[in-house]
Amino acid sequence: MSALSVAKFGGTSVADYEAMQSCAKIIISDPNTRVVVLSASAGVTNLLVELARGCDIEKQKQLISEITKIQEAILIKLKDSSKIKLKIDLILKTIENLSEAANLATSPALTDELISQGEMMSTLIFVQLLAELNIKATWIDVRTIITTDSQFGKAVPNDEVTQKNSDLILKPLINEGELIITQGFIGRNSEGKTTTLGRGGSDYSAALLAEVLNAKNVLIWTDVAGIYTTDPRIVKNAKKIDTISFSEAAEMATFGAKVLHPATLLPAVRSNIPVYVGSSKSPEEGGTWVISDPQPRPTFRAIALRREQTLLTLTSLSMLHAQGFIAHIFSILAKHKISVDTITTSEVSVALTLDLKGSTSSKTELLSPELLLELEKVANVNIDTGLALVALVGNNLHTSIGIAKQIFNAIDQYNVRMISYGASPNNVCTLVSSGEADDIVRILHKKLFE
Ligand code: ADP
Ligand code: ASP
Ligand code: MG
Repeated sequence: MSALSVAKFGGTSVADYEAMQSCAKIIISDPNTRVVVLSASAGVTNLLVELARGCDIEKQKQLISEITKIQEAILIKLKDSSKIKLKIDLILKTIENLSEAANLATSPALTDELISQGEMMSTLIFVQLLAELNIKATWIDVRTIITTDSQFGKAVPNDEVTQKNSDLILKPLINEGELIITQGFIGRNSEGKTTTLGRGGSDYSAALLAEVLNAKNVLIWTDVAGIYTTDPRIVKNAKKIDTISFSEAAEMATFGAKVLHPATLLPAVRSNIPVYVGSSKSPEEGGTWVISDPQPRPTFRAIALRREQTLLTLTSLSMLHAQGFIAHIFSILAKHKISVDTITTSEVSVALTLDLKGSTSSKTELLSPELLLELEKVANVNIDTGLALVALVGNNLHTSIGIAKQIFNAIDQYNVRMISYGASPNNVCTLVSSGEADDIVRILHKKLFE
């Protein structure tokens, strides 16, 4: 199994019949690709998330009809959709039942059960499409492999159990030469309930499966031909990066480069598995390899943008010459499962940036009244919203001379609300107003990359 590749195709890559055909071509052209991880067809997860919030019956009907339209547009192009249509209709019925339950009372567990249906449909349809191209493939419910804890919406995989499941179920099939088609994004807790790994989590699923299968690489097929110097949707002149290190790519993903889910590189780094990013529509354009030791390693590599950030400033006079204040704040945040991205402190205050919606599947706001009450007991709490983090990613940024000058000269027309510099050799972060973030990215890109 030494040459095994795990390929992941994202939402736009399985959006319609033609896109799925391109995926099939890629699979046919690479005999090493034995495990294929799919996202839901583009748009489906968003519609399911809306249903999971609960709504009135009219809205529910409209949302389900939109999902049905997306899937049926693929089904009608199949040569024989009769068998598969029955299965999809059953899933649509399940979606309806779960939506009705959500209308009465939604819950994180119900949300995950509901939004997992998108990946179930895309994988079933894809197996039929492959069959019509004379490619025999085995459909696997990934929940029998990826076992997680019970943090619905952002579940954490249990690596040991996942490894055991893979050895027991997946490896024998692969050894027999089967081509496996399975779902990204979803898993199952020890009680048998469906969980999800967070929005965009299919990349992470692919990396997890690659790790337990000892794969040679992970191939992320998406709608861009690799990782670019910034989001090509913001800057048309963004340039493709040929090779990039795990740590640089991890910083990019963490700070908003949606092309990779932030957790994707955890298994890849742990097990030193190269990750390739390429376009499923035009694979001939080449892509980006994320590896441990790329050359060259430029000082400035890329710019990432993370929107919808919140700045939490906590001020307490008792912080003056006191010990343990920050520890206390962090323990409260940890209790509420909030992770802090960047932090600056002064004598009596500490400012933190938080991604309150994060990549949780349900996008529920995490800044609860209970959390605020606890924080207010120890400090004055100020919340600023409407902010974005612009992260400059590169190498040896903390020891190179003139970095701050170059950045601040470039964006001297803008207010920088906070900076985070020095903690990582790979990243300098600035917190700016949301409304100005795109312009700041464009200007920085022009000055540093063009
Ligand atoms: P998929 O559905 O295949 O997972 P995503 O939409 O999650 O695709 O990720 C691909 C998108 O990531 C691109 O369309 C692009 O707009 C965005 N993106 C953000 N930053 C970058 C970057 N630095 N390089 C390439 N793409 C990026
Ligand atoms: N379908 C899921 C989402 O839209 C997972 C993924 O696409 O990676 O978030
Ligand atoms: Mg994605």
